[in-house]
Amino acid sequence: GRSSAQDYDFFFLVLQWPGSYCDTKQSCCYPRSGKPAADFGIHGLWPNRDDGSYPQNCDPDSEFDPSKVSDLMGSLRSEWPTLACPSNDGTRFWAHEWEKHGTCAVSAVGDEHGYFAAAIRLRSQLPVLAALRDGGVRPDGGYYTLSQIKGAVSRGVGFEPFVECNRDESGNSQLYQLYFCVDAAGEKFVECPVSPGGRPCGNRIEFPAF
Ligand code: 5GP
Ligand code: 5GP
Ligand code: 5GP
Repeated sequence: GRSSAQDYDFFFLVLQWPGSYCDTKQSCCYPRSGKPAADFGIHGLWPNRDDGSYPQNCDPDSEFDPSKVSDLMGSLRSEWPTLACPSNDGTRFWAHEWEKHGTCAVSAVGDEHGYFAAAIRLRSQLPVLAALRDGGVRPDGGYYTLSQIKGAVSRGVGFEPFVECNRDESGNSQLYQLYFCVDAAGEKFVECPVSPGGRPCGNRIEFPAF
């Protein structure tokens, strides 16, 4: 961390499966750059406290400025794609994540460029899809148990994720997001001090194709 003025204890790095964002009643839109790769993308890097609370919107004067991350645009488009409608280039998603979470993370990441670079670097250390595949868990529309998913990711990447599920159009529980924890410096993965909570996945979890 670059300064001690920090109001959080660790980060959640949250990855989303685009197939599960799209496979809902609400549906999705591909970004203007085209259909994203069939891989987990970044949702956000979220500062969090050990008691489960978290700071947000820490600097209303620090609006997202795309010119500060122009060198990261290629990586942002491929690794942090938006699936929200209406179709856009991703700027809305990145701006939301920077303004809500990133502005609270400056003691670790420094500035806007540091925030996005940190999340991209951390994600590159998590071969999640390969880990799932090696554990027999594939985005084939099939159903898997929570322990199959958690076990496969843990074995493959070395850290146990928290699994968040959402519902497909028919109400089936599906693998939506994976939460990993990062130390307060934003540097290395740690076991999570607290789980993010949310509703249970059940034990029949769909992994939809994308
Ligand atoms: P949801 O209500 O969809 O779970 O969360 C809405 C938003 O609140 C998330 O996308 C995220 O921005 C924020 N959020 C939810 N849970 C957490 C959490 O445990 N930690 C942090 N830092 N943010 C969270
Ligand atoms: P959070 O849940 O992080 O507070 O909010 C996510 C915000 O980003 C929401 O306003 C959501 O509409 C927007 N958003 C844009 N693209 C995406 C995406 O691909 N996934 C998710 N989860 N939210 C997105
Ligand atoms: P335990 O801590 O005994 O493994 O689990 C306690 C409860 O939390 C159980 O209902 C279990 O299904 C749920 N749980 C454990 N890990 C996760 C997870 O990664 N995601 C979700 N959604 N629930 C979990």
